[in-house]
Amino acid sequence: DRADLSDLIAAGIRDIPDFPKPGITFKDITPLLGTPEALRAVVSAVAAYYGTDAVDAVVGLEARGFILGAPIALELDAGFVPVRKAGKLPARTLRESYDLEYGTATVELHADAITPGSRVLIVDDVLATGGTARAAVELVRRAGGTVVGLSVLMELAFLQGRDQLTDVDVHALTVV
Ligand code: AMP
Repeated sequence: DRADLSDLIAAGIRDIPDFPKPGITFKDITPLLGTPEALRAVVSAVAAYYGTDAVDAVVGLEARGFILGAPIALELDAGFVPVRKAGKLPARTLRESYDLEYGTATVELHADAITPGSRVLIVDDVLATGGTARAAVELVRRAGGTVVGLSVLMELAFLQGRDQLTDVDVHALTVV
């Protein structure tokens, strides 16, 4: 149930202070990934929330969204589609850039990866400022997909990422 799931997530995500730079507390999900009952519980919970008839494709955000997104896609009987940092995808891409504290970041989606009209669930590990997720939403929509939701293991509410995603169903398994 929900309490067990929250406990598994709390036990499976550890805080790494000052990584990758001073002042950032990194949420490390590798303990959760290494614990089969926790990994199974989060995948099942996300799949159960959306249901097998609601999703045609799961878009995973590089890199931890790939790890979580692929088993969620299987559970939903959906395909898996990667959104990657610029320069990694080999075929023709759509690109979106967004502002970081210093500079900008660019993410890409293969131009032919989303069948127009298909229903897309976007998956990542952590929702922080929301910039990455916002860019992914724009990519999916430009490709002709309908975004049915954004699912994350953990939302860092103090960074107010949701404010950039008011037009999306944001589903966070835990909020800190
Ligand atoms: P943002 O675009 O600010 O929402 O950042 C989201 C992306 O950066 C996700 O792909 C996360 O995996 C990663 N990220 C941002 N902040 C953290 C954090 N404190 N701990 C772990 N991952 C993070």
